[in-house]
Amino acid sequence: MSHWPGNAKDQRTTFGGLSRAQLMSRVRSRGNNTTELRLASLLRHSGLSGWRRHQPLPGRPDFVWPKLRVAVFVDGCFWHGHNCGKNISPKTNAAAWQTKISGNKARDRRVTRLLRDRGWLVLRIWECRLSRQHTRCIRRIELALDHAG
Ligand SMILES: [Zn+2]
Repeated sequence: MSHWPGNAKDQRTTFGGLSRAQLMSRVRSRGNNTTELRLASLLRHSGLSGWRRHQPLPGRPDFVWPKLRVAVFVDGCFWHGHNCGKNISPKTNAAAWQTKISGNKARDRRVTRLLRDRGWLVLRIWECRLSRQHTRCIRRIELALDHAG
């Protein structure tokens, strides 16, 4: 779990009227792997196999096809700063959050570049796309696997 900026323990959340519990569940979407499990089930449903999880690669990709050298990340909109409206803007400690989120984005770019330099095909899928347009997400992965194979 990442560090919570500021002394927020007793503060009420000012994040778009969310309760603190709701906010924490959104923030945690990186640690709870609901989204990843959802993608795993979509992959199975589409007959895509051969993937591994928890591979010791830079940035810990969520799904990896080791032989084809394809790595898929599912990025939570909040932590990875997606500009889609799910990335609610914090009012308390806004600067600290901004720093944290831009740090995450910079790290995402570094990791992607590093893996590509090592010959990996890297896909990053936004959490919101996966829930709203999962067919397209699966199609992207299929194309990547075809291309790599
Ligand atoms: Zn999003």
